[in-house]
Amino acid sequence: SGKTFSHIQNGAGHAPFDVNLIKKDFPILQERVNGRPLIWLDNAATTQKPKSVIDRITYFYEHENSNIHRAAHELAARATDAYESARSKVQVFLNAGSVNEIIFVRGATEAINLVAKTWGEQNLNAGDEIIVSNLEHHANIVPWQQLAAKKGLKLRVIPVDDDGQILLDEYAKLLNPKTKLVSFTQVSNALGTVTPAKQIVEMAHQAGAKVLVDGAQSVSHLRSDVRALNCDWFVFSGHKVFGPTGIGVLYGKEDLLNETQPWQGGGNMIQDVTFEHTKFHDAPNRFEAGTGNIADAVGLGAAIDYVNKIGIDVIHQYEHYLLVYATNLMKDIPGLRLIGTAPDKASVLSFVFEGYKTEEVGAALNNEGIAVRSGHHCAQPILRRFGVETTVRPSLAFYNTCSDVDILVETLYRLRGAHR
Ligand code: PLP
Repeated sequence: SGKTFSHIQNGAGHAPFDVNLIKKDFPILQERVNGRPLIWLDNAATTQKPKSVIDRITYFYEHENSNIHRAAHELAARATDAYESARSKVQVFLNAGSVNEIIFVRGATEAINLVAKTWGEQNLNAGDEIIVSNLEHHANIVPWQQLAAKKGLKLRVIPVDDDGQILLDEYAKLLNPKTKLVSFTQVSNALGTVTPAKQIVEMAHQAGAKVLVDGAQSVSHLRSDVRALNCDWFVFSGHKVFGPTGIGVLYGKEDLLNETQPWQGGGNMIQDVTFEHTKFHDAPNRFEAGTGNIADAVGLGAAIDYVNKIGIDVIHQYEHYLLVYATNLMKDIPGLRLIGTAPDKASVLSFVFEGYKTEEVGAALNNEGIAVRSGHHCAQPILRRFGVETTVRPSLAFYNTCSDVDILVETLYRLRGAHR
């Protein structure tokens, strides 16, 4: 305790935008928690929503609400326009070639399950192999494990080095003619590692495998470009990119989507139904059975507008500055072990703190109004790779400031002092 820092006033000198003005766009960031201003450092779990997103959803329910596609009246047209315009925003955001490649789902988890339950069930056979990385979130492990158990497939795992980086030479050794799918994350939610996604995709394709990229942790921090990546599928959740919960996206290459049989059957996904035979729509409707989360898709569109207004490259640059700032301060705190020390990281600062359980650190930070996650982050295999069951995980977004980081670091120094 007693340590002081050269406060760079809210990082303002370094942000290419006015962070304090940005913070004001997020009503919840004006909350107080335990008598202190809320400091939201749990962005890897979910992000906060700007007023423009909240207002857009309200506007939808006040002026546009209707079911889509099926009814020929004014509000149906408004709702359909709003929903399809959100789809176009996602297309541009991901740099997908066509709106038909954008399927609205519940989130990253549902998107991965959709691919496992459709393409996976239809195309993989006993003895085939699926590769994931050691870094994966449970959402990108369990669906493949379930499929493997059902069909007699083999699940293989790319190891990481002591910094938490993918070992590409080990990956190369895993690839073989039986490899049918490589499914991996672009950014690790537990360590923050940015993976060499383009290279992983290329190597998979050379081996004749299809590739799914889990963009849940990358979309809010890095420019997403599915055409540059050349992945076959890309998934993300709206709530991790300043949009609502309950809405997410599956991108898939158009031909591949149309060669794949639907998952759920029902309204919206059909062209024609008789009791003898049903003809399905092409993508995206093919995979959007029933009434979807129309309002939240529209909200996601507004979140993308908000991110675009600041600019994802500017966000990336500022967050990198913040991450380096935080890393440099945290690595000097006695007894603090950072887990995940790759040079190429985004947002996440996972650590354990000598003398304290991770939940004790989380509770002490909460007393100061600081929200972080302490736990296994739904990524138990990668934490165990580093010999721990849980970590404390602050995770940054563009509305965080150097002063947020300073308060975090000061609190950790105070805990260290109290422990001695
Ligand atoms: N993949 C990664 C890398 C994640 O971090 C998460 C969420 O934490 C998911 C998938 C699952 O996202 P959701 O729970 O929104 O479906």
